[in-house]
Amino acid sequence: MSRALIIGAGGVAGAAAHKCCQNHEVFTDIMIASRTKSKCDKLKESCEEYKKKVGSGTNIETAEVDADSVPQLTELIKSYKPDIVINLALPYQDLSIMDACLETGVDYLDTANYEPEDTAKFEYKWQWAYRERFKEKGITAVLGSGFDPGVTGVFSAYALKHEFDEINYIDILDCNGGDHGYPFATNFNPEINIREVSAKGSYWENGGWVETEPMEIKRSYDFDGVGVRDMYLLHHEELESLALNIKGIKRIRFFMTFGESYLTHLKCLENVGMTSIKPIMFEGREIVPLQFLKAVLPDPASLGPRTVGKTNIGCIFTGKKDGKDKTYYLYNVCDHRECYNEVGSQAVSYTTGVPAMIGAAMVLTGKWKKPGVYNVEEFDPDPFMDALNKFGLPWTENRSPKLVD
Ligand code: NDP
Repeated sequence: MSRALIIGAGGVAGAAAHKCCQNHEVFTDIMIASRTKSKCDKLKESCEEYKKKVGSGTNIETAEVDADSVPQLTELIKSYKPDIVINLALPYQDLSIMDACLETGVDYLDTANYEPEDTAKFEYKWQWAYRERFKEKGITAVLGSGFDPGVTGVFSAYALKHEFDEINYIDILDCNGGDHGYPFATNFNPEINIREVSAKGSYWENGGWVETEPMEIKRSYDFDGVGVRDMYLLHHEELESLALNIKGIKRIRFFMTFGESYLTHLKCLENVGMTSIKPIMFEGREIVPLQFLKAVLPDPASLGPRTVGKTNIGCIFTGKKDGKDKTYYLYNVCDHRECYNEVGSQAVSYTTGVPAMIGAAMVLTGKWKKPGVYNVEEFDPDPFMDALNKFGLPWTENRSPKLVD
């Protein structure tokens, strides 16, 4: 019997809310609260239909909240009395929601680390700074419980627990082989997505960061369920926490696939200044070009019915077991159309929303309940791995994968 407050009503929140209804023994009550209440109500309608299919009795309420406002959040939390707040708004809201959780003594979970709106630089330092205060208050914060970050961290903890004595190298490969039929669209929030891919790349090696130009390092990989795709090295937030938490690690890299058309459009938008986050004056008012671009691009939540193909996201580990060299690849293949038919969202939202629900269930059932602020790889991976199989993200092992050079 638990109550969860979901903040946000976009693509990821949509998948998570449906999955909370599926896991109705844990989530007896949920509230969907976001800036635009009509989106919460629409999502509730879809969840009500889904509940009939899965035989769920989860009670759903909706509310309007500005998650930048700690007083508004605090008031909502005090009136709804959730056992956990699942933050599926944007990374900019992480700290205000954590502040409200601290004030009300409620557990917290998110899928993306904080970044200030005016500097496209995401790192954990702002959220890790809450550790002592969460500990003192006796509440748990789980950071980054989506797929990447999220499942990639759980995969790493699982590999270390069961397969290796020591992991030396991790390559995280994120392949989206889906096609939505638009010349250019992003699979999740365009502002966050474009900030991520137009930033400099970097990877962790021998105790420090190696920086690259954006898209400088390119490789090809043959993905199970998708086929051969070009992928590019990016900085990604879980590199920072895994470098600390996976002992013995010498190098961690993150690669994401992009099609040629996506990259050509992005280059053009960059060249004309549309991806800039520096405010400019336009017809007497200040606008941020990237936010304007977001307004004219397709809403990621609308891509669901159009997207076909599969995603394949996973980690290739190289290390040692019983004194011998070993490689091990753990990944999930997810089908866009199947996700849409099940919960009304495409696979990128699904692969993020399902782990958000699972992470919250881990806290609510006491399996991941420990006061403080933690990344997912700091908890026992086993119950989470079981839940992935049960709730729609089954994983596959390969003990002789092709390595990335
Ligand atoms: P969307 O843009 O589809 O949804 C964001 C939602 O947050 C919208 O409903 C939006 O409301 C709401 N919101 C934004 N600002 C506020 C505010 N101030 N107060 C209240 N609500 C607000 O994004 P996604 O669903 O695609 O992504 C959600 C999160 O998931 C992001 O943080 C993203 O970075 C993360 N993510 C993580 C991944 C992972 O694997 N770990 C992968 C993909 C995404 P409105 O509709 O009014 O704008």
